[in-house]
Amino acid sequence: MSITANDPTRKTWLEVPENSDFPIQNIPFGVFLTRDDIITIGTRIGDTAIDLGALHQLGYFEGIPLTDDIFLQDTLNDFISDGKKTWRLVRNRIAEIFDASNDKLRDHEEHRKVVLFGLDEIEMQMPVQVGDYTDFYSSKEHATNVGTMFRDPENALLPNWLHIPVGYHGRSSSIVPSGIPIHRPQGQTKPKDADEPVFGPSKRIDFELEMAFITTDANHLGEPIPIDEAEDYIFGLVLFNDWSARDIQTWEYVPLGPFLAKNFASSVSPWIVTLDALDPFRVESPKPEKKLLPYLQTSGKKSFDIDLEVFIQPENGEETRVSKSNFKYMYWNMSQQLAHHTVNGCPVLSGDMMGSGTISGPTPDSYGSMLELSWKGEKPVKLKDGSTRTFIDDNDTVIMRGHCQKENYRIGFGEVSTKLLPVFEKKK
Ligand code: MN
Repeated sequence: MSITANDPTRKTWLEVPENSDFPIQNIPFGVFLTRDDIITIGTRIGDTAIDLGALHQLGYFEGIPLTDDIFLQDTLNDFISDGKKTWRLVRNRIAEIFDASNDKLRDHEEHRKVVLFGLDEIEMQMPVQVGDYTDFYSSKEHATNVGTMFRDPENALLPNWLHIPVGYHGRSSSIVPSGIPIHRPQGQTKPKDADEPVFGPSKRIDFELEMAFITTDANHLGEPIPIDEAEDYIFGLVLFNDWSARDIQTWEYVPLGPFLAKNFASSVSPWIVTLDALDPFRVESPKPEKKLLPYLQTSGKKSFDIDLEVFIQPENGEETRVSKSNFKYMYWNMSQQLAHHTVNGCPVLSGDMMGSGTISGPTPDSYGSMLELSWKGEKPVKLKDGSTRTFIDDNDTVIMRGHCQKENYRIGFGEVSTKLLPVFEKKK
């Protein structure tokens, strides 16, 4: 089935601001609360949020096999479970409904009133209930930088790195959507030159610039996903800020890997941009430097050209861009990650979230964490207001944005914006 929703020449009868991340060619999926306090699944064109539950009730998805309540839910998990064919049919139909030449909804004021919302009338929620969250470590530049800083510049990459998409199982309970503030965590650290560990607020709170992909039910226990089929089970992507406490991490991570340094919060952009919408932006992955085992070999364009930016905004101050990177720098692509994740028969479910790992580019201005940008705190990063940061201060807001650009249109993710509050204090 062709992806007619991607037609670059299509225009819509809705107003779309110039350079919007959400032209009619995007059609992402999200979950929002409406002005009447009703939760629904929706999409977005320009700055208009569209209630898919209402559209479905009014019969606009006639002919597509969907259960009556598929969009009247507080997560996308069931819709994602319906599979790629259904996602395509629904995106194609939405493109038709909002096509400039289609007057059915355009000229029906009653229907428009219940279907369309301004962004100020809605509140975005988590798009999926994340059952399991896995985080990879797939940027060679990031792994090299971290290995150089903490181990041995001569052997920055550990021996397995060029053979395996390294990853760990994270925690899904602390994944929150853009706009939800988080607290600086406390924990156990061991200051340099101290004999014993101490307890207190982390002094090295960091962001990690990542993207995450969301899967559908893909395989049964015991059944691997072949690498050539992996993309069929990827619904779409979000921006992902994998908050990290570097001082807690340094002390706790041996030998089982990250724990409390990572599971206090991760923030996601609320609109899932489908893999279908990103199809025109495919690029080749970096060439493997070692011959890969057959189950990890891919051919064709399996990476995506997505420009990524990170900004820090001090309280009441203006934003400073501190990093500019690109998703295409990832050494391991999503197909390789999913094939590797399931090669032992581990089942993947609808709504599972897979973080890419910090996406660092080749140049120092493209590093995806403060750890690297400030080189473990040795080179402070200057902000527009003259202040400097080595890590993130209380009441700073960290904002990540991402988009793909072609001459005639762009497909974007909007943003994930999160304020770091001081350590939590129980109200008296
Ligand atoms: Mn991470």
